[in-house]
Amino acid sequence: MATGVTDVLKIVQGAIDLVRKIKEISEKTKDAELKNAVADLSLQLADAKMRLVDVLDENSRLKTRLQLIESHAARAEGLLVKGGLYFDASGDGPFCPHCYDSKRQVSRLTKQKDCWVVYGDYECPACRQCFNKEQS
Ligand SMILES: [Zn+2]
Repeated sequence: MATGVTDVLKIVQGAIDLVRKIKEISEKTKDAELKNAVADLSLQLADAKMRLVDVLDENSRLKTRLQLIESHAARAEGLLVKGGLYFDASGDGPFCPHCYDSKRQVSRLTKQKDCWVVYGDYECPACRQCFNKEQS
């Protein structure tokens, strides 16, 4: 029994192979109506196969996106505030307080270049806000 899109794709490919055999048989009969019906069926199966491949691609993209979101969520669960910035339990960070507080997005802050330090010690590459680490 089919359990996923990949299995359905194999079934459709099997149906396409069967249609090829039916097409060969129909060539011998000289029946134009049968030939047209077989040709239409062949086109519809090819279209179904292409759409299934699109579904597989989308499924793959969504799985990758879900893994990314889950890894961010797992990391976000353990975030701690130190000096107004977020760090994970291992001390990795700092992460952007604006992104995390507004969207639950974990964005690593980058150390500001010396010439821009007047705006803050760190800048968020996602929201472009600058932050100073408060002394604690
Ligand atoms: Zn941010």
